[in-house]
Amino acid sequence: MEGGLGEGEIEFLRTSYREYYYRHSSSLWIPPRLESREIGFLTFEGHFKRHMRAGTPGELVGAVLREVPWGIFYSVSYYEDPGNPDMDEKGWLGADLAFDIDVKDLHPACMDAHDFYACADGSVRPLSDGALPGCRRVDWVCPSCVEAGRREVLRLLDLLQRDLGVRPDSISIYYSGHRGFHVHVEDEGLRDLGREARAQIADYVSLSSYDPAFFARLLPLSEGHLGTLVGWPARVVEALRAKYGVPPTRPALEALVGGDLRAAIDAAVAAVRVRIDPQVTVDISRIFRMPTSLNEKTGMSKLPCADIIACDPLTEAAVLSEEPVKVEVSYAPKLQLKGYTYGPYRRSTLKLPGFVAAFLVSKGVAKIVKSRGGASGP
Ligand SMILES: [Zn+2]
Repeated sequence: MEGGLGEGEIEFLRTSYREYYYRHSSSLWIPPRLESREIGFLTFEGHFKRHMRAGTPGELVGAVLREVPWGIFYSVSYYEDPGNPDMDEKGWLGADLAFDIDVKDLHPACMDAHDFYACADGSVRPLSDGALPGCRRVDWVCPSCVEAGRREVLRLLDLLQRDLGVRPDSISIYYSGHRGFHVHVEDEGLRDLGREARAQIADYVSLSSYDPAFFARLLPLSEGHLGTLVGWPARVVEALRAKYGVPPTRPALEALVGGDLRAAIDAAVAAVRVRIDPQVTVDISRIFRMPTSLNEKTGMSKLPCADIIACDPLTEAAVLSEEPVKVEVSYAPKLQLKGYTYGPYRRSTLKLPGFVAAFLVSKGVAKIVKSRGGASGP
């Protein structure tokens, strides 16, 4: 949800969303153990309706078609009484393990080039100029953002499988529909984990409380012992080897960095740690965007990526109609969707495919131009 959208823009989005949900009513992703999940809808009026439940897939799809929500969410937790508005009375039964990778936290170089501030007076400021009152930040998405997220997901998968023994077939990966990836683990053996255990997993994955002195002590004195390291120490050693081009024994590194290993280890850890949002993993009362539903920030879908390498989110998640729509764009950086490049635009009035118009309208940078008959479009 960005900026304040006008009536015409909301009507356009609502119509596009309705058409998408009708067209996909039989192929919408349904949460496993649906009857035990809390369901939440974000309405086009900007209200969050939580604590709903659906006994059957038909009930859920019926509610989606009836209400046409702007966002659809489901709880990572299972409850005895998921519709109970009192969290303490829901009767917690367990929860999937969830990870959120937000490209914003990865700071790819492209972010400074395409994100911007849109100000109330119609002016646009680059990100590097900093925030001003009356200006809102507009987050953009480009193929480099997706690649940054994909690399982080691959590192997370490696950790989950090799270090924590999570079965590959219990892991599902999704593009969020905006600028991130979600990784869900549905494993009976992990369902019972409480907040404390989930916090430890988040801590392990992101190395958020590591001690450089501890890693320094683990560095072997001789080359022959480098191969005995496993888990994080092995990854840190590999990062040191890549950076310095020598077998990273303690004496070799001390000779290179002048005795103080701390900065070298900090840099190696920064290069290998997985940057997740720890709150998402720890907070078991959270509701999560439902796969195949549309993301209100872009009008793109939360896309299942069965093959994270082959998955092409900026093509596959652009699921809204291609029917041209006339829009007035105030400002938009270059946008790459479905293999085509749109823009950059500045104060342009033009016809764009529906999924591009929906992206720009959702970002609050385009208005629908009504034809004389009152309807939008050609
Ligand atoms: Zn980018």
